[in-house]
Amino acid sequence: MIYLDYQATTPLAPEALAAMQPWLASGFANPHSPHRLGRAAAAAVDVARDQVAALLPPGGRVIFTSGASEAINLAIKGSLASRPRPAIAASAIEHAAVLDTARFVARSGAFHALPVGGDGVVAPDAELPEALDLLAVMHVNNEIGTIQPIADLAARAQAKGALFLCDAVQSYGRIAIPHGPDMIALSAHKIHGPKGIGALWVREGVELEPLIHGGGQEQGLRSGTLSPALCAGFGAAAALAARQSQADADHVEALWRTARAAFAGWTLNGDADRRYHGNMNLRREGLDVARLMSNLRDIAFSAGSACASGSGRTSHVLSAIGLTSAQAKNCIRLGFGRYTSADDVESAAEMINAAADAQI
Ligand code: PLP
Repeated sequence: MIYLDYQATTPLAPEALAAMQPWLASGFANPHSPHRLGRAAAAAVDVARDQVAALLPPGGRVIFTSGASEAINLAIKGSLASRPRPAIAASAIEHAAVLDTARFVARSGAFHALPVGGDGVVAPDAELPEALDLLAVMHVNNEIGTIQPIADLAARAQAKGALFLCDAVQSYGRIAIPHGPDMIALSAHKIHGPKGIGALWVREGVELEPLIHGGGQEQGLRSGTLSPALCAGFGAAAALAARQSQADADHVEALWRTARAAFAGWTLNGDADRRYHGNMNLRREGLDVARLMSNLRDIAFSAGSACASGSGRTSHVLSAIGLTSAQAKNCIRLGFGRYTSADDVESAAEMINAAADAQI
């Protein structure tokens, strides 16, 4: 099986697995217990928190959550809890975790979607609504990989007195996180860490109401017993990403060049340069992607996003860059990274091109 679905999730790093194992076995104690075993587990959580924070701007704190979806919910609901009529804006290409939460919270207020160009990028001077409490723009898009002008948009939102949330799920551990956001949402499983853990980074001074009430863990913002194993796995994955950042970036760049040459007959969706090169979203006129995927069961890849793939709905991201529903059904998303070889990319391209040629 060739795995080319790195935006959906990434293989667990052996280092992350090794870091988790002691906390699943003899180190089973509750990290909130005051005895020696509990304190050892709490120390492992603290180390992990520092490892995760090391890839983020200074001047903030890391709150562990069950994943990025929870982090995003905490950011949007928690920061706007005291606003009777919250005004929220978000880019039209945000992940559903942002769009659905923002629309839900804005039922009593207003929601505004910022358009993107055909290149899949929000204009840095995009018009913002007059009244604004929160602007959410992702760093790297999960479907087409485009990189958004976060620092500019954050500064403009803050100049209006609004908070800025950045969903950095697809960029964290891969490219540098820009300074500027008030809140940053992360997920461990996109950086070779375990599923079931993520984090919200919150700038000092930003006040949040908790989503989950109870024992007051995570600085009163997220009650519930933490899993030291998941924290340690996330921390180890972040530390590894920091250590390997240049090698990972060089490897992804080489794979990108191989893939671009191998898929020369396809149209690239989204800007070629202002994007993370581990994401290649491609289009070929007349292609039936559902049929292509069922013909190529030995390659794990995706049509649009993992979520949109299963639903049969047209991807809101591909619509936002101007593709018709028919064109959106001609698209595949290939995602590669640290554990992908050039051979994987070349063999997959040969099989995908042959299956596509047979169709068209
Ligand atoms: N945001 C983006 C851009 C994503 O790609 C994903 C995962 O697909 C999420 C948020 C949700 O992350 P999690 O699976 O940790 O809830």
